[in-house]
Amino acid sequence: MSEFYDLGKEYESDVFNNAVMKERLPGDVYASLTGSIKTMGTLDPGIADIVANAMKEWAMEKGATHYTDWFQPMTGNTAEKHESFVDFEGDREFVLKFSGKELIKGEPDASSFPTGGVRETYEARGYTAWDPTSPAFVKGHVLYIPTAFCSYGGEALDKKTPLLRSMQAIDKQGKRILKLLGSPADTGIVTNCGAEQEYFLIDESMYDARPDLVYAGRTLFGSAPPKGQDLDDHYFGIIKPRVAAFMQDLDETLWSLGIASKTRHNEVAPAQHEIASIFETANRATDHNQLIMETLKSVAPKHGLVCLTNEKPFAGVNGSGKHCNWSIATSEGENLLDPGKTPVSNARFLLFLSAVIKAVDLHQDLLRLSVATAANDHRLGKAEAPPAIISIFLGEELTDILASIKSGELISPTERVSMSIGVDVLPQFPKDTTDRNRTSPFAFTGNKFEFRMVGSSLSVSGPLFILNTIVADVLSGFAGRLEKAADINAEIAAIVKETIVAHERIIFNGNNYAEAWVAEAEKRGLLNLKTTTDALPYFIKPENIELMARHEVLTPDEVESRTELLLEGYVKILRIEALTMLELSHRDIVPAVIAYETDVAKSANAKKRVSENLPATLETGLLENLGALGASLSDALAALEKAVAGEPAGETLEIAKYYGTVVISAMAKLRETVDALEGIVDRHYWPLPSYGEILYSVK
Ligand code: ADP
Ligand code: MG
Repeated sequence: MSEFYDLGKEYESDVFNNAVMKERLPGDVYASLTGSIKTMGTLDPGIADIVANAMKEWAMEKGATHYTDWFQPMTGNTAEKHESFVDFEGDREFVLKFSGKELIKGEPDASSFPTGGVRETYEARGYTAWDPTSPAFVKGHVLYIPTAFCSYGGEALDKKTPLLRSMQAIDKQGKRILKLLGSPADTGIVTNCGAEQEYFLIDESMYDARPDLVYAGRTLFGSAPPKGQDLDDHYFGIIKPRVAAFMQDLDETLWSLGIASKTRHNEVAPAQHEIASIFETANRATDHNQLIMETLKSVAPKHGLVCLTNEKPFAGVNGSGKHCNWSIATSEGENLLDPGKTPVSNARFLLFLSAVIKAVDLHQDLLRLSVATAANDHRLGKAEAPPAIISIFLGEELTDILASIKSGELISPTERVSMSIGVDVLPQFPKDTTDRNRTSPFAFTGNKFEFRMVGSSLSVSGPLFILNTIVADVLSGFAGRLEKAADINAEIAAIVKETIVAHERIIFNGNNYAEAWVAEAEKRGLLNLKTTTDALPYFIKPENIELMARHEVLTPDEVESRTELLLEGYVKILRIEALTMLELSHRDIVPAVIAYETDVAKSANAKKRVSENLPATLETGLLENLGALGASLSDALAALEKAVAGEPAGETLEIAKYYGTVVISAMAKLRETVDALEGIVDRHYWPLPSYGEILYSVK
């Protein structure tokens, strides 16, 4: 039976996929459309009406009454605005219609989307442009059409556009090299991504009782429960029936949307889980990861649950990340990061591996800032996630091979050793050359790199377009050299060797969580950009602006507006968190503390009334503690209020730095006091469910 058990649907049943196109489009239209999709080439506008009509007919059979351009503005969420198929033709004759024009281009009002100043607000017009490389799908009663979103002037206002541009950039540079290595001229490079997504699942009643979760997506108060992740009993543990039912529902929904969800398991922290889907092209993987996050949130309430995708929902408990597995392949599907079995494929592998090593070392700043957010600052470098220092894990065997190339002494003795470093004699090595290193930010895992610094709620688009662009830039340099070389094999060997010599500092196979690594990395001259405000300003360094422009991924204006936007976003998040803490304190916590204090005092007085000698030791001790902490609470509240009110005027970077230091430390002080109070106030008075209650809320 090919139907899923619960939903009674089939894989991709809600997707306008290749099979549907083949069945419903005339042969020439199908060929033209799939041709453009494969080469990411220009679409023939002449076929748009036919495709649109076929999409509409198909979607209506699935129950759709509306369509929407579906895009990814800089909010990090997806956006949709539904239009019904209802229309009039001629003399108000009612028709259900979806035209090619509507499919290809939409004109949503862009004035309320963040732009970071790329467009004046009076230029409200924005455009959405159909992205045929990511298939349309039906969800509910709506046909969703993946689109890119740009301003009237053509500036990218979304997360998809730079990613598509970067895929084009790496394809262009990769083609030059592949051609020199003997591939057909039209063999290009495809970027692949498989994202592993972590999340928390809690009972709906707990969520509703925590305004901090509602407003900020993470708890802003709460002390650690007596039992957290200490016993390591949750990781890969038995999945509770209610969670398993949720996961089943989730998987089946995702499969019908063409998302090949594959792996599911419990994660390290109580109430924490993970889902991973099978890798696909970076563009689709990005759209699909957005859909996974949405589906996690929309399926959970059907099971009385709420899904938290925030990076750090609970202090002192592991946060959530998103492992972004990245690789590059030829357009024929050969993985370029696969070591392979023959020396020739090893040479190609070593060349592309060198390109990644060089790119990561040269552009540590860009990779680091691609994952910089307020929430991710709570994870990176906290011994639960990689540090803020970028390095590469290669595993012992590959590192040894590179060391032997560097020294010119080959490690595997073959008859051809005498040819020294010539490509032919590069040693062969088996496929599974890497061990696991869970602490590395950027680990080679056999035939792909796993970028582990990405936060759980972040779109993978940013990290992916940065990776593609920096590698494209290095490939462009390599291609330039190889194109001029008389002996291409000798030149490849020289490039590989030079790259290892120049960039080996970025390779680190040890424990990235260790204190010693921080010192060692500093000695090696690696960047350690601890916070978002340390990292983001690097985006607008002239060399980075030029790099993005050189590969036509972002214009200088787009880089500047994006930096501005990311900084604004950081400030807004911290402001919301600070205001939420203040509101919760004034309206819930302070009254609870006073009510409890009053009752304790009443008890002490009652004892006194019975007899002056009746001991009220518990009450007086408690009252003293409550009094002292109450005084700290009052001070901490005043300090945070002052900090928020004192927000400086001026450059966004200055405001962001102010929030990142002054406001964050006032928030920390308030939290410390409130958490101490939580430890001594009767749980019946305390207005918020405890960490223990929340983390163990799903039976
Ligand atoms: P683990 O990280 O536990 O070793 P896997 O290797 O099975 O797990 O894969 C984790 C993720 O990496 C999955 O999403 C998988 O599809 C993806 N992946 C596997 N091979 C590649 C590849 N060549 N390129 C990109 N992603 C890949
Ligand atoms: Mg993994």
